[in-house]
Amino acid sequence: MQEKIAKNQYEVAVVPGDGIGPEMTQATIEVIKAAFGSEQKLNFTEHLAGANEYLRSGTALPEETLIACSKADAVLHGAAGLPDVNLPDGTEAGQDFSLKIRPALDLFANIRPIKLYDGIESSLRHFEPGAIDYVIVRENTEGLYAARGGGNKVRNDTVTDTMVMTRLGVERIVKTAAEQAMRRNGAPRDGKKRVTIVDKANVLRSFAFFREVAEGVLANYPEIEVDYALVDAMTVHMIERPDTFDVVVCENIIGDILSDLGAATVGGMGMSPSAEIGTWHGYFQASHGSAPTIAGKDIANPIGTILSGAFMLEWLAREHQDATLQPYADNIINAVNRVLADGRGRTRDIKGSATTSSATKAVCDALA
Ligand code: ATP
Repeated sequence: MQEKIAKNQYEVAVVPGDGIGPEMTQATIEVIKAAFGSEQKLNFTEHLAGANEYLRSGTALPEETLIACSKADAVLHGAAGLPDVNLPDGTEAGQDFSLKIRPALDLFANIRPIKLYDGIESSLRHFEPGAIDYVIVRENTEGLYAARGGGNKVRNDTVTDTMVMTRLGVERIVKTAAEQAMRRNGAPRDGKKRVTIVDKANVLRSFAFFREVAEGVLANYPEIEVDYALVDAMTVHMIERPDTFDVVVCENIIGDILSDLGAATVGGMGMSPSAEIGTWHGYFQASHGSAPTIAGKDIANPIGTILSGAFMLEWLAREHQDATLQPYADNIINAVNRVLADGRGRTRDIKGSATTSSATKAVCDALA
């Protein structure tokens, strides 16, 4: 791979996917185009993947899409998967897109901010905007999900899926978490830089290994307080004292589950962005799924995907050392903040009356 340099034009592979996915990517592209105005710096091309593509062609991740995603400077995704479209083994076919592209592009870090914005009422009493602001750093290529498609079924009565952890895999995810903590301002309650290692180290050898390797990495960061939580207790802490968290690092399936819980405390799935990052590639989508029951009704909340689009610009700015991109990301985040606070960007899932299209237009207007 060549070293990345600043460009006049960046190529973004867009994979709209299923359910609300296409509405979410369309909203995000509109916002990014509004942010750049007369100086467009991103070129978007659309590619097929997901459950509908599986029904059409027999694969949820066509070769053409994989090649386009690996050649592009970044990937923007809506959501993939439909609950009734299954592989012969009973798992969801559309999930193959995310679960295959992560290892294919080695997107080892799934960074999921949990942040309570102005104008959003938390389902937790006593927590005001700003009081919940942490990042879940989910390992994205190993753990239990590495068994996808490789588990064993013996006769029709015994199945196994195996947890995979490697030293390199744990080291690099914990290093990513530490770097996030070094860039942030600490936990809202006490301003301390803190990395919370979440596992089940008291029961499983694999998690004990995760914890041991994580401690070794964090020993190199004396500015960061190291904190521990067993995953079952963590579900309680995230409800009772979310303001004590700064960066949370964990294995793949734990991160998947905890990030949905975290999203529920800051307005719901529609509010939750994510960035999936490897050494070379970046892939950006909201944390939510395809929500088929609300698809096509112009009611889904586009904010999670729009914020993921802003993170895509931040990541491109860092990767290509292109300082010209950062202000556009900042402008989008500020515009989102404004329309959430004044209500124009609040869809019904976050107690507002905006539609997907009116919320998107409000963000675009705020950028103008
Ligand atoms: P996956 O496993 O693919 O991540 P999921 O089964 O967790 O998906 P989602 O599709 O994320 O399910 O939906 C979970 C709930 O959140 C549903 O009630 C859905 O309607 C709601 N939801 C998800 N995304 C949004 C959104 N953008 N706006 C409003 N509600 C949403």
